[in-house]
Amino acid sequence: EFLQTVNLTKLLTDLAPNYQDLAKEKDLNFYTKLPGRPILIRAEPELLRQAIENLLNNAIKYTNSGGTIGLKLIYESRWVMIAVTDTGIGIPPEDLPHIFDRFYRVDQVRTRKTGGFGLGLAIVKQIIEAHQGYVRATSTLGVGSTFTVELPRLDS
Ligand code: ATP
Ligand code: MG
Repeated sequence: EFLQTVNLTKLLTDLAPNYQDLAKEKDLNFYTKLPGRPILIRAEPELLRQAIENLLNNAIKYTNSGGTIGLKLIYESRWVMIAVTDTGIGIPPEDLPHIFDRFYRVDQVRTRKTGGFGLGLAIVKQIIEAHQGYVRATSTLGVGSTFTVELPRLDS
């Protein structure tokens, strides 16, 4: 049993300064919207952190200068929702159903210059499903994307 009680508010708060810096290097705005209180879940904290970082890294990688990246935590009595939003290049509707597949990358032209294996989102999906959660994406080409992770909340 590797699961621990994890304060998701703290986990996300601790990630923020690094992404603030990474965003700044690329001339992106970064904001967080996090609750002012601990939100507890059962998780393997390093894996969960990895999953969220993969989403944040994508948001930074696929957003052009001047854009905005957001990290939000929303909670209700039984669920928590983590949303990573960007005002980036977006994902064509025909590719959206495949982006969580291993080695899937949207197209040669736009990904040649960014590099990557097409594994980040497959890992996110595997980690979140191992936590009895769900991950989904909505996107509009040329406007931006939102990746949403839902996880069961620990009664507190
Ligand atoms: P890796 O994460 O393995 O370094 P990758 O970023 O290409 O490589 P994934 O993170 O699995 O792979 O993403 C799959 C594809 O989905 C990407 O190649 C990219 O085309 C698209 N994608 C993922 N996140 C975003 C995003 N926030 N905005 C636009 N496109 C995205
Ligand atoms: Mg990636």
